[in-house]
Amino acid sequence: MTITCLNHKKTSKFICYQCNSLMCSRCISIHNKEHPDHSDKWEHIDDIKDSLSTLKLDDIIDTTNTTTNNDISNDSTNSNNNSISQINNKLKSLWESLRSSASRYQRLSTTENEIKQHFEQLHQYLIREEHKLQRDIINDKHTITNQIDNNILNLKYIVNIIMIFNKLNINDNDNNNNKVNTDNKSMINSNNTDNICDDQSIISDKASLYSTTTIMESIRSNSSLQSFINHNNQTLFNEYLDLFNIEELLKQHSNDSTSLLLDIIHKYNNQFNKSTTITDNNNLTLSSYKLSIKQPDFNQLNSIIEQSIKLDNIESTESINTTTNNNDNKQSYIFITHQLKGSTHQTTIRLKS
Ligand SMILES: [Zn+2]
Ligand SMILES: [Zn+2]
Repeated sequence: MTITCLNHKKTSKFICYQCNSLMCSRCISIHNKEHPDHSDKWEHIDDIKDSLSTLKLDDIIDTTNTTTNNDISNDSTNSNNNSISQINNKLKSLWESLRSSASRYQRLSTTENEIKQHFEQLHQYLIREEHKLQRDIINDKHTITNQIDNNILNLKYIVNIIMIFNKLNINDNDNNNNKVNTDNKSMINSNNTDNICDDQSIISDKASLYSTTTIMESIRSNSSLQSFINHNNQTLFNEYLDLFNIEELLKQHSNDSTSLLLDIIHKYNNQFNKSTTITDNNNLTLSSYKLSIKQPDFNQLNSIIEQSIKLDNIESTESINTTTNNNDNKQSYIFITHQLKGSTHQTTIRLKS
């Protein structure tokens, strides 16, 4: 396909980049008279081809930076001056713009990061202050959690003793003697062969903060012990709870319920006398706290922050000026970056750090 000028029936061989129009030799002559200011904006296709055939991308160098390559690039630019087309120039200015944008972006990121690091110190300071105030409270909460765990375990044993007693009592009445019908032990989980010590260690493992939190909720929502036990009759106080391994004990005591009862109460005492210091409420001296809170003086805080960091946006020269005052060591960074459309872009970062 040949691009032909419709007015002059001649092949179009010129392009004016300004108007983005294709023209024949007649057109370009007319165009020159009508738009003398476009004289350096149009090119002949042969010149463009020459330029592209001699184009070396190695020569497209960002000459706005004062680099060691500067001399070389100038030389090559001069030597090829005849075949420099608008496309070459466009490539060069695009590359310079990309170089400039990328390094400007990097400087902005550096400044952004310096601001972040500065405030990170304040964040860490506030976190430390927060933890300092919370520390005693958290320790007390931990103590209470342990206390509740131990008291719940204690309660489980007593409730279990009562359940066993009720069961033995019923059997006593049914059988009209002092022996227990060992076949009738629906409340006892015969598969549960844990002894007292094993059971406690398992319970300690399960006493996660979550479960203790759940138990505390239940304690708060039930005013009576009976309703608390009923509320947890599927978990803490389920009917198959067998803390003493009753099946074995019944054998040992030859189904003598009185002897068995005395034995489990004795075992219970052994268990919880050893850990008196943990379970005894009176030994836990927990402090009370009165918290006074008033809104911080943010004006004061603001002035402290303003004294330590300042970011000035100098719009007229598109400069960034960051000043960080920590101590008297001063560092200055001045980056003169690039010239774009005649204006100088300069970034100045002054740091006291
Ligand atoms: Zn034009
Ligand atoms: Zn024409």
